[in-house]
Amino acid sequence: MDTHQERTVKIEDTIAMLQKTFECPICLDLMKNAVSTKCDHKFCRLCIQKAIGHKSSIPCPICKDPTTKRSLQKLTHWNKIMDKVRELPSAFEADSGIQCECN
Ligand SMILES: [Zn+2]
Ligand SMILES: [Zn+2]
Repeated sequence: MDTHQERTVKIEDTIAMLQKTFECPICLDLMKNAVSTKCDHKFCRLCIQKAIGHKSSIPCPICKDPTTKRSLQKLTHWNKIMDKVRELPSAFEADSGIQCECN
Protein backbone atom coordinates (compact mmCIF):
# COMPACT_ATOMS: atom_id res chain seq x y z
CA MET A 1 0.00 0.00 0.00
CA ASP A 2 2.78 2.37 0.99
CA THR A 3 4.78 1.68 -2.14
CA HIS A 4 1.75 2.39 -4.28
CA GLN A 5 1.29 5.75 -2.61
CA GLU A 6 4.91 6.64 -3.12
CA ARG A 7 4.68 5.76 -6.77
CA THR A 8 1.57 7.90 -7.16
CA VAL A 9 3.31 10.94 -5.70
CA LYS A 10 6.29 10.45 -7.99
CA ILE A 11 4.15 10.26 -11.11
CA GLU A 12 2.37 13.45 -10.11
CA ASP A 13 5.73 15.12 -9.53
CA THR A 14 6.87 14.00 -12.95
CA ILE A 15 3.74 15.37 -14.58
CA ALA A 16 4.22 18.68 -12.75
CA MET A 17 7.84 18.79 -13.84
CA LEU A 18 6.95 18.06 -17.45
CA GLN A 19 4.30 20.75 -17.42
CA LYS A 20 6.85 23.19 -16.02
CA THR A 21 9.27 22.24 -18.81
CA PHE A 22 6.67 22.93 -21.46
CA GLU A 23 5.41 26.11 -19.86
CA CYS A 24 5.44 29.27 -21.94
CA PRO A 25 7.49 31.96 -20.12
CA ILE A 26 5.04 34.63 -21.31
CA CYS A 27 1.59 33.23 -20.46
CA LEU A 28 2.82 30.62 -17.94
CA ASP A 29 0.54 28.03 -19.49
CA LEU A 30 1.45 24.95 -21.52
CA MET A 31 2.76 26.21 -24.85
CA LYS A 32 0.34 26.19 -27.75
CA ASN A 33 1.79 25.89 -31.26
CA ALA A 34 5.25 26.29 -29.81
CA VAL A 35 7.88 28.11 -31.82
CA SER A 36 11.53 28.59 -31.04
CA THR A 37 13.55 31.74 -31.50
CA LYS A 38 16.99 31.96 -33.04
CA CYS A 39 18.42 31.87 -29.51
CA ASP A 40 16.55 28.59 -28.97
CA HIS A 41 13.97 29.86 -26.51
CA LYS A 42 10.44 28.55 -26.85
CA PHE A 43 7.10 30.30 -26.61
CA CYS A 44 3.53 29.94 -27.85
CA ARG A 45 3.40 31.25 -31.37
CA LEU A 46 0.70 33.77 -30.43
CA CYS A 47 2.50 35.00 -27.30
CA ILE A 48 5.77 35.78 -29.06
CA GLN A 49 3.99 37.22 -32.10
CA LYS A 50 1.99 39.49 -29.83
CA ALA A 51 5.21 40.51 -28.06
CA ILE A 52 6.84 41.38 -31.37
CA GLY A 53 3.71 43.13 -32.63
CA HIS A 54 4.50 45.48 -35.49
CA LYS A 55 8.12 45.98 -34.50
CA SER A 56 10.80 44.54 -36.74
CA SER A 57 12.51 42.91 -33.76
CA ILE A 58 12.29 42.73 -29.97
CA PRO A 59 14.74 41.50 -27.35
CA CYS A 60 13.98 37.86 -26.50
CA PRO A 61 11.94 37.86 -23.25
CA ILE A 62 14.48 35.42 -21.78
CA CYS A 63 17.94 36.34 -22.99
CA LYS A 64 17.40 39.71 -24.74
CA ASP A 65 18.77 38.48 -28.06
CA PRO A 66 17.12 40.24 -31.01
CA THR A 67 14.08 38.24 -32.09
CA THR A 68 12.15 38.74 -35.32
CA LYS A 69 8.97 37.12 -36.57
CA ARG A 70 10.88 35.67 -39.48
CA SER A 71 13.39 33.93 -37.23
CA LEU A 72 10.67 31.96 -35.43
CA GLN A 73 10.75 28.27 -36.14
CA LYS A 74 7.83 25.91 -35.87
CA LEU A 75 8.40 23.00 -33.51
CA THR A 76 6.28 20.26 -34.99
CA HIS A 77 7.90 17.47 -33.00
CA TRP A 78 7.83 19.49 -29.79
CA ASN A 79 4.12 20.19 -30.27
CA LYS A 80 3.42 16.49 -30.63
CA ILE A 81 5.12 15.83 -27.29
CA MET A 82 3.16 18.66 -25.76
CA ASP A 83 -0.13 17.16 -26.84
CA LYS A 84 0.86 14.10 -24.86
CA VAL A 85 1.88 16.16 -21.85
CA ARG A 86 -1.49 17.90 -21.97
CA GLU A 87 -3.23 14.51 -21.90
CA LEU A 88 -1.08 13.15 -19.07
CA PRO A 89 -3.07 14.29 -16.02
CA SER A 90 -6.37 12.89 -17.32
CA ALA A 91 -4.66 9.79 -18.69
CA PHE A 92 -3.08 9.26 -15.30
CA GLU A 93 -6.41 9.70 -13.52
CA ALA A 94 -8.15 7.30 -15.83
CA ASP A 95 -5.28 4.89 -15.47
CA SER A 96 -5.08 4.96 -11.68
CA GLY A 97 -8.88 4.78 -11.45
CA ILE A 98 -8.89 1.50 -13.31
CA GLN A 99 -5.77 0.02 -11.82
CA CYS A 100 -5.91 0.87 -8.16
CA GLU A 101 -6.93 -1.54 -5.43
CA CYS A 102 -8.17 -4.26 -7.76
CA ASN A 103 -4.87 -6.14 -7.88
ZN1 LIG B 1 2.24 31.59 -24.14
ZN1 LIG C 1 16.44 33.99 -26.04
